[in-house]
Amino acid sequence: MKLDATDLRYMTPEEFRVLTAVEMGSKNHEVVPSALISQISGLRNGGVNKILGGLAKRNLVAKVQNSKYDGYRLTYGGYDYLAMRALSKRDSVYSVGNQIGVGKESDVYVVANSEGHEMVLKLHRLGRVSFRAIKEKRDYLGRRKSASWMYMSRLAAQKEWAFLKVLHEHQFPVPRPIDQARHCILMEFLDAYPLRQIDQVPSPGKLYSQLMDLIVRFAHAGLIHGDFNEFNILVRRDDGEPVVIDFPQMVSTAHENAEWYFNRDVECIRTFFRRRFKYESAIYPRFRNVVGDGSKDDGFLLDVVVEASGFGRREMKVLEQVWVYVSTSTVR
Ligand code: ADP
Ligand code: MG
Repeated sequence: MKLDATDLRYMTPEEFRVLTAVEMGSKNHEVVPSALISQISGLRNGGVNKILGGLAKRNLVAKVQNSKYDGYRLTYGGYDYLAMRALSKRDSVYSVGNQIGVGKESDVYVVANSEGHEMVLKLHRLGRVSFRAIKEKRDYLGRRKSASWMYMSRLAAQKEWAFLKVLHEHQFPVPRPIDQARHCILMEFLDAYPLRQIDQVPSPGKLYSQLMDLIVRFAHAGLIHGDFNEFNILVRRDDGEPVVIDFPQMVSTAHENAEWYFNRDVECIRTFFRRRFKYESAIYPRFRNVVGDGSKDDGFLLDVVVEASGFGRREMKVLEQVWVYVSTSTVR
């Protein structure tokens, strides 16, 4: 999905009002009736329809012919637009560069501020593959009738942002968080390669220990990455130090399946080092030893983080369902 920033500069205040009205209406309508859009935007019916037509042409909204009424829904393009506009209003982002990652559940771009300083913008795109899974779990959605992709993607971004911030504050090797809006997070652009692309390292043993130490450090802080693998570990070009990315699936060490998540993270590293570097060690962390050893040296726990970020247990549960689904399907 292409992110078009040039479009950002050409929108009238009325168009913006209508687009925002579609977003607001989406909170309780899967298809927002034109009359409601007109009501929310405070603009006349005729004018609104014309503007909606224009927005639809630019793929910011899509017209939906419903059995009961005609209406519009916000597209990812429209949601991107609103997020980018928020980021540019705050002077966080000025221009959009190349796409550097296309995940199943996100798009990653290099962007820059007005001084040309490069950063990474990650747009969460939940719903591409996971929408079905979540729809089956309506009990977690409370009063919400549907788990819209917008809501899910925003939750994922908010969760990733909350973790990124707290991990960075506690000196974990993660990108520096810069800003967050809707389904997007803005962070430091690392001059680094994913471990996946690296064929040789000066000392596989050293890197292996660093990564296992990190898993242990996470666990001492009450956290399990949950997707700790060669795709989400970047190695800095200058000093070869590892940096960890991609946090929306993080789980607590108090989670009922914590041991399973922990072992999977450990096994991912062991398997990768065996295959790629022909490196194998008898030393690797075990959940019981790590979590039961009483050395919570980082002094913060997931639950605290979760509460501070305004994340309820219910939201956590909703996202969890998505990640269980994502991690059991094939491509990463
Ligand atoms: P996904 O959820 O799609 O896996 P990731 O957060 O893992 O998204 O990012 C996808 C890819 O984008 C990474 O593998 C990496 O190559 C690149 N990337 C992500 N964040 C950064 C960053 N801060 N600096 C440099 N590259 C990054
Ligand atoms: Mg990833």
